[in-house]
Amino acid sequence: MAQKPKVAITWLGACGGCDMAVVDLDAGLLDVADKLDIVLWPVALDYKYQDVQALSDCSLALAIISGCVRNDEHLEIARLLRQKAGLVLALGACACFGGTPGLANFVGRQEILDFVYRDAPTVENPEGTIPQEKSLVNGHELTLPAFHEKVRAIKQVIDVDYFLPGCPPPPHLISQAINAVLAGDLPPKGSALAPRRALCDVCPRNRKKPARLEIHQIRQIHTIETDPDYCFLEEGILCMGPATRSGCGETCIRNNMPCRGCFGPVAGVEDAGTKHLSALASILRTEQYFDLAQLVETIPDPAGLFYRFTQPVSILGKAALKMHPLDKERP
Ligand code: SF4
Ligand code: SF4
Repeated sequence: MAQKPKVAITWLGACGGCDMAVVDLDAGLLDVADKLDIVLWPVALDYKYQDVQALSDCSLALAIISGCVRNDEHLEIARLLRQKAGLVLALGACACFGGTPGLANFVGRQEILDFVYRDAPTVENPEGTIPQEKSLVNGHELTLPAFHEKVRAIKQVIDVDYFLPGCPPPPHLISQAINAVLAGDLPPKGSALAPRRALCDVCPRNRKKPARLEIHQIRQIHTIETDPDYCFLEEGILCMGPATRSGCGETCIRNNMPCRGCFGPVAGVEDAGTKHLSALASILRTEQYFDLAQLVETIPDPAGLFYRFTQPVSILGKAALKMHPLDKERP
């Protein structure tokens, strides 16, 4: 009997949602498990990293990696899987773009440690203890992975073959991606295994969108009752649909929430945030030029809104990473 293709599935800096999306394949999971030899999947199976280290190079058909790279363990596992796998698939927004953990790149490592362990109002830590890479407890040395200065997307530390964005990616796209790998039916290297069109093109609220759309007032979704037939932008609610890749099933929109861009930018766009910004700038309208500045001031947390999932791979994010090369990140 022919050997089944070996596959590793793992998470780095992640919440586990992408792994849960794999579990959500339901009956499809049994189908996938039947076709594959899964050699690593920490969320579901008790394999060890040593099992992967013992494999010969490129002996895995596929490594599916979710999560961002935030510490030395993430970096080590990403590099190990790259060495052992013929193909690497970055699964989910954190793996593809850095994701919401990438918002931490607006500050540095020390500020994060200080706030989380000393300064947060709920912290009780009179001795100001901060986790160390090495510490002695009862004569035993304990180690922790080094915490990096900045969050990185996987492609910023290893070569990635394919990308499947989303927070999390929907199970049907995961299943399609695995089947495409098994069948050898793949687009050019570097492609996203998701539709190329923008979310607005498939949005149910797009039907009545006027050709000329204007925003005179920015509103928050929780402050008004929206009409499910109208585009959020028409009601002054900021929605990232114009520049976001489709494929999610319009999950948020169908649940009366504007898109926040977890599928990343449409094909060919390098910086999702500037694209969102330029789409919005073209439809903001006020009577007086000076009123425009006031209107812009009403956008809550603009950096978090426009770069919610993509800060590390943005133009500014990449410039910041250049100032913190990985090899110099150890304190
Ligand atoms: S902006 Fe949002 S609500 Fe409007 S059509 Fe696009 S995705 Fe739909
Ligand atoms: S609507 Fe936008 S934020 Fe929501 S799941 Fe789809 S791409 Fe992600």
